[in-house]
This record gives sequence, C-alpha cells and structure tokens, in this order.
Amino acid sequence: MDGGAGIDGEGWLSGAERRPSPSQDHRPPGTNIDLLVIHNISLPPGDFSGDWIDDLFLDRLDPAAHPYFQAIAGLRVSAHLLIRRSGRLLQYVPFEQRAWHAGVSRFAGRERCNDFSIGIELEGTDEIPFTEAQYARLAECTRRILRRYPAITEDRIAGHAEIAPGRKTDPGPAFDWNRYRRSIRGEGRGIAPELPLD
Ligand SMILES: [Zn+2]
Repeated sequence: MDGGAGIDGEGWLSGAERRPSPSQDHRPPGTNIDLLVIHNISLPPGDFSGDWIDDLFLDRLDPAAHPYFQAIAGLRVSAHLLIRRSGRLLQYVPFEQRAWHAGVSRFAGRERCNDFSIGIELEGTDEIPFTEAQYARLAECTRRILRRYPAITEDRIAGHAEIAPGRKTDPGPAFDWNRYRRSIRGEGRGIAPELPLD
C-alpha cells in the first residue's frame, strides 16, 4: 500500500521518534494531501542546544525559561516532522492528521494550507547554513513522502515564505533549494536514494 515508503496507515514514518502533539486535528473529509511545506525554527532563535522546540510542539513550553518564550508559550502549533541539526528526526503529527504549521496561508489560490499540506521543520535560522545531516535526512524523508503521497509533485513543495508572503520568511536564504531539489531526484553529493533510516 505504501509502496515501500515506510509510512503506516495513520501516516507515521518509520525511523522517526514519535512525539504525539496535542496541537493537531482532523483534516477536512476527503482531503487530498498535495503540498509539502518547508520551514525553519529554533528556540530560542539561533540556539540549537535545547529541546525547547519539543516543548513548544507538545504545548508545554515554560514561559519563564527564556524571555523569548513569553510571547510564544501557549501558541498551539506543531509540524509533522522536525529535523534537528544532527539529522535526528522527530514526528509530532501523523501525516493523515492536520498539523498547525502554516497559519494564514495560500498556495495556488487555495487558502488554509494546513488542511492539505505536510509541514517539515528544519532546526535553524534564515541565515545560518543548514547541516549536511539535515539535507540528507530531508532528502530521504521527502522521497518517502512523495512515494506515499504522489499528489505532492515536485512543483508542490514550497517554503513557508512562499505561502505566507509578508508574514513569514522561512526557510530563508540559507536554505539551498537547488541542492534540495537535486537531492529529491537522487542527484548530487552523498546521496544514496535507498539508504535506510536509522
Ligand atoms: Zn514556518
């Protein structure tokens, strides 16, 4: 059924650490999942040392832990996947469910992209280059998602900035779209298309 993608009926990706988020709900009935959205996030911004993203997506971020958190604690947000700097892969929402990553958004004339998209967060910032391990993991995840959800064609992979212009800037200029797109096709350096996830 999943064509070897390693994605179960609910949309859990094998090899990802599962952290079920309370910030999710059902997609509208009959939704065809046909968009992939790439983001970046770090908490506090530019700091890659803690597990604060986990806390945010699990709706348990302590507003007293850092001044920046006061503004965002209590926001009900999530993504399907997070790829940390090391390439570590976490899943908060199964793909068949709606994660709350895009906010007010529009793609090809359709609003509310959360309804029909899968969201992947890369731990990072707009300006700091992403790691080799992140590009490798992202390529692997993307190929598996596209195999399982073939309506997500290559031209239906977008950055958050593209679907929420003027409001969002991620994944930002540091994200190498050309490298990413080549890697989805199995081209480019260090790419082993069928390399299993650990
Ligand atoms: Zn974003």
